Amino acid sequence: METNCAPFPGAASPDPVRYRKAISHFPTGIAIVASEDDEGGIHGMTVSSFTSISLEPPTVMVSLKAGKMHQLISRQGGYGVSILREDQQSYSVHFGGRPHTLLEPDFVVRERVPTVRDSLAWFECEIIERIQVQDHTLFIAQVVACGHHEGSPLIFFASRYHRQALEGC
Ligand code: FAD
Repeated sequence: METNCAPFPGAASPDPVRYRKAISHFPTGIAIVASEDDEGGIHGMTVSSFTSISLEPPTVMVSLKAGKMHQLISRQGGYGVSILREDQQSYSVHFGGRPHTLLEPDFVVRERVPTVRDSLAWFECEIIERIQVQDHTLFIAQVVACGHHEGSPLIFFASRYHRQALEGC
């Protein structure tokens, strides 16, 4: 049964700077969430919160703050996710709040929602549930189409971008 759990009684939260530093040591890839906007263009947003929840059925989530992307995908019911290659850091900067038209990637709609044409992997997602947690919304979605290309990922670790070829073991 699902319950709403409170933190341990009397537990204090760590200082926000301490938490930010600690959590930044969890390495992630970088994804671009994308949606068509009201003018027929494409709006993108950089996220590190993309996570796979289940394999069957294929289910993923992103955690978003209020803003334009939040509004667009809430209305449209779906979103595209593109995992960036190690040489695509400029896309992350562009969609992470420092826009520059020269850095705009090429998008493609294969089935329903846009993804970056030459990303490492892409997912077209249909929202099945929204959960509000603190000041973020978890957009849980079923993957309706996906694919990938060979290459190495862009990595975000300790608040910096990293490129490192993956070595087999
Ligand atoms: P805009 O609509 O331009 O909003 C920009 C910001 O303004 C919002 O994020 C919010 O802080 C504020 N804002 C706008 N409208 C409102 C409103 N109505 N109420 C309250 N605040 C408002 N962001 C995430 O949410 N999740 C992530 O996982 C995430 N990962 C990131 C990883 C990296 C490496 C980087 C660089 C950024 C990440 N961001 C993440 C930040 C996000 O990419 C930027 O904030 C982006 O500009 C948000 O796109 P938007 O379309 O919502 O922008």
